[in-house]
Amino acid sequence: MKIICIGRNYADHARELKNDIPAEPVIFMKPDSALITGNRPFFLPEFTQDLHYETELVVRIHKLGRHIEERFAHKYYCDITVGIDFTARDVQQRLKSQGLPWELAKAFDGSAVLGEWVPLAGRDIQDLHFHLDKNGKTVQQGHTADMLFNVNQIISFVSRYFTLKIGDLIYTGTPAGVGKVDIGDQLNGFLGDKELFRCEVK
Ligand code: ZN
Repeated sequence: MKIICIGRNYADHARELKNDIPAEPVIFMKPDSALITGNRPFFLPEFTQDLHYETELVVRIHKLGRHIEERFAHKYYCDITVGIDFTARDVQQRLKSQGLPWELAKAFDGSAVLGEWVPLAGRDIQDLHFHLDKNGKTVQQGHTADMLFNVNQIISFVSRYFTLKIGDLIYTGTPAGVGKVDIGDQLNGFLGDKELFRCEVK
């Protein structure tokens, strides 16, 4: 199982980090050891002083495919959830400034919080609202209509490079409003008004 993540997929977030709007999807990956499921806590790593949440819609692939045409991409998923792409922002800035890969900042243990799966069930995947509460206050809100590359375009693009297998996950990028977490914070992720994960920072 692999975890494919999209960077800079919402214009307002690209702008808040002073990045250019990408001409094609920005892709990075996490290993399966990054996953946090079942509302388990996240242990703040010691190598960062600026650990950020990024709340994202997550899509699970349920059919093997490669070179998938955009018009057929909807056949490759049916379950969705929300998750967090935890990012060591200080480490990422250092790597970016040196032109180095992002894995140390993005792919460490516990960096991929994953919520409970829900069926898409006929809803338009590009018309979903999601949000994150930190300590009971909403800190990040997203609407999938604002994605620069929609889910079907992402699947078509990545499947030109990587065979998609059953169970692979795609983290589809964060909207604006990313921010720091500290020990003791309680994070709750929602799709619409349904809570799909709880994560305590320890
Ligand atoms: Zn992200």
